[in-house]
Amino acid sequence: MNDWLTATVVGRHQWTAQLVSLHLDAPLAEFQAGQYVKIALDDGPERVGRPYSLVNSPDVRPLEIHFTTVPEGALTSRLAALEVGARLWISARANGLFTLEQVVTRRHLWLFATGTGLGVYLSMLGTAAPWQRFERVMLVHGVRYTDELAYADRIAALRTNYGDRFCFIPTISRDAAGAGQFAGRITELLANGELERTAGAAITPADSHCMMCGNAEMIKDARALLEERGLQRHKRSEPGHYTLEQYH
Ligand SMILES: Cc1cc2nc3c(=O)[nH]c(=O)nc-3n(C[C@H](O)[C@H](O)[C@H](O)COP(=O)(O)OP(=O)(O)OC[C@H]3O[C@@H](n4cnc5c(N)ncnc54)[C@H](O)[C@@H]3O)c2cc1C
Repeated sequence: MNDWLTATVVGRHQWTAQLVSLHLDAPLAEFQAGQYVKIALDDGPERVGRPYSLVNSPDVRPLEIHFTTVPEGALTSRLAALEVGARLWISARANGLFTLEQVVTRRHLWLFATGTGLGVYLSMLGTAAPWQRFERVMLVHGVRYTDELAYADRIAALRTNYGDRFCFIPTISRDAAGAGQFAGRITELLANGELERTAGAAITPADSHCMMCGNAEMIKDARALLEERGLQRHKRSEPGHYTLEQYH
């Protein structure tokens, strides 16, 4: 059973009609970058809760979640309507193993996200760990429409701070791609070699660890492509080359 805390909305950002970030104040226990909390609202006698990854790094407050409003969803349309000052429930602890602590150090860290899956990586990249452990970090963010490329300011700051050690590859599947963007799905650009050409680095078992976060289709197709290259899923008992977190 969850222990619940009350959280207060202290800020919100509406990126698109569907895409929202909420900033929350709550006395959450210590957590690792990459972990998720459970967020809930009461619906009469029922408490409707769902997991959300934390976007803020562990030493940064306020807490932050980033989500897509699913019109038929039980929680997100109500979450998206919350204004500053509103109260909601948050689990007292964060959970999850999709963290850098669970990853084998290699030369290159590849981070694949669809949509709101980006947030979990912003939490990690705001800590010292990836920059101490990996020579280079490649962040690949797949969205359908250009306006879904959220958090451009934080990504620009990573570029400024880490230069060539950080490579950001935005991919757009339904709009025309603009300058510095790539047309297609992440998995199409992985299959045709475009991601590796752009990064100037091959994805190999010797050099790479890959993390995948987001929708089931991207994860299923990316896993198959990585396994063709000889990468295996990481297990505690059997160190491998990729880890994943599926949102839906
Ligand atoms: C470990 C973990 C971490 C997660 N972190 C995040 C996060 O940081 N941000 C985030 O947006 N979501 C995240 N999710 C998904 C989130 O928990 C909810 O499932 C999602 O927000 C939908 O909730 P809902 O109650 O509105 O819809 P539900 O009533 O739960 O679902 C309604 C339908 O919508 C589908 N659906 C769920 N999410 C999406 C989506 N994004 N796009 C299209 N269809 C969808 C469901 O599969 C279902 O068929 C995470 C899930 C897991 C397991």
